[in-house]
Amino acid sequence: MLKGIAFCASMIAAPVAADTDDFVEANLLSIFYHELGHALIDILKLPVFGQEEDAADVASILLIDAFFEEEYAVSIAYDAAFGFLGEAHAAGSDIAWWDVHGPDLQRYYNLVCLFVGADMDARSDMIEDLELPEERQDSCEEEFDLANSSWGPVFDEIEGSGTSIRYTGGTSSLTEQIISEEVAALNQNFRLPQTLKVTVEDCGEANAYYDLERTEITICSEFEGWLREIAP
Ligand SMILES: [Zn+2]
Repeated sequence: MLKGIAFCASMIAAPVAADTDDFVEANLLSIFYHELGHALIDILKLPVFGQEEDAADVASILLIDAFFEEEYAVSIAYDAAFGFLGEAHAAGSDIAWWDVHGPDLQRYYNLVCLFVGADMDARSDMIEDLELPEERQDSCEEEFDLANSSWGPVFDEIEGSGTSIRYTGGTSSLTEQIISEEVAALNQNFRLPQTLKVTVEDCGEANAYYDLERTEITICSEFEGWLREIAP
């Protein structure tokens, strides 16, 4: 599968979200990769055993791990984890157990476990900082291996470059800049058998979704403001 560009084997000092723009960017990337997971499941007709939302979360974490240099990947993972924490705090005790997404705190622990599972030694600081309980730590390496052997061949299959991911949004807001640049970067790494459209637009809510009929990912422009509200 796609491998990180340059892995630093040395221990990393955990960069904590110092800047709200970094938090916004990291969470937009994490959300965009989650939607890309949905798109790949649809376009490549992938079997999904379990909740598709969980599979999309797993794809997002694997891509963060694979695409970025260690320090930046760790920083994105921290911010994405803080994003789930922020959502959990905002929801308070009002947990939507019926929702297709897992509860935010569970998504938080899944993210931390899978991400550290990719390299338990180098990322041990994160286990402490983000308080991953020992009971869960035991299975993280195996969880990562299973995730990687599930999504890895999929990423291999679409490895290549081209213009199959087409950005149709604007380029002025921070969200638009981040997503349009990310689409360009993805086109350097992936070639899909079908055109996937990606846009940023007003939706009337802070959301992001993949539209099966249109083969299109929409990142709502309202998301940025919401992320600023829940930023640590
Ligand atoms: Zn989803």
